[in-house]
Amino acid sequence: MNDMSSSQALGTFPDTSRTRGARVEFDRVSKDYGELTVLHETSLTIEAGEFFALIGPSGSGKSTLLGVLAGFVPPSYGAVKVDGTDIVAVPPYRRNIGMVFQNYALFPHMSVAENIGFPLKMRGCGKGEIAERVKKALAMVRLEALGERRPAQLSGGQQQRVALARAAVYDPRLLLMDEPLGALDKNLREEMQDEIKRFQRAFGATVIYVTHDQQEAAFLADRLAVMRGGMLEQIGTPRQLYEMPGTHFVASFLGEAS
Ligand code: ADP
Ligand code: MG
Repeated sequence: MNDMSSSQALGTFPDTSRTRGARVEFDRVSKDYGELTVLHETSLTIEAGEFFALIGPSGSGKSTLLGVLAGFVPPSYGAVKVDGTDIVAVPPYRRNIGMVFQNYALFPHMSVAENIGFPLKMRGCGKGEIAERVKKALAMVRLEALGERRPAQLSGGQQQRVALARAAVYDPRLLLMDEPLGALDKNLREEMQDEIKRFQRAFGATVIYVTHDQQEAAFLADRLAVMRGGMLEQIGTPRQLYEMPGTHFVASFLGEAS
């Protein structure tokens, strides 16, 4: 894990002067578990800097698609390209993809600052650089004053912001979020939606965001895709989907209260 130890490999953080986001292409990606096909030749291009949401019922393949991109689900067939390079053979830890999941496990015995700095430590960064990057990451999620606390001393929303800072601390150009607000109550979820939107604008990475909450997706995303049974049923801007649902399934799914 130490071969990305130089600061050059990490880039500058945060750099809002350009679109830093990566372009992602899924090219006929399939995934089978024995007889069960959970992704059917899925092709999808996500543009650099885009906020892209994947929605669809439980079991439709959203997490599997993210897993293929993150590297912990090997595809049965197909190519996954980041900025034009096929990454299927690249080990997950070398992909430099930030991740925030619903069950964001913070290390309970470490301070907030140590939690955020952990990915940098794993990459062999020096103490000075870690301190500097952690400070910026804390500022980005507005937790400057809480760096010395333990996770248990934070609210659920604050813990989620720590997870966001930890995913962003090594300046990934691609950030994957799988139901990151799923464990929070409704008020907190709405507050965090604003936070995530603000964060992405400041951070400039490409974001792929999985949620089963249609309103959340429509609020956050530039474009979204509705998944059904391992296929992309429709892709478009929230407005396109709501005004021109392409299938009966999309229309009824978007119409459901979440
Ligand atoms: P979603 O995130 O949309 O709820 P998933 O991608 O988690 O859906 O799952 C898609 C389908 O793949 C489901 O039917 C699920 O049961 C199946 N699945 C996921 N992971 C595995 C696995 N490791 N082994 C067998 N089936 C799996
Ligand atoms: Mg899932």
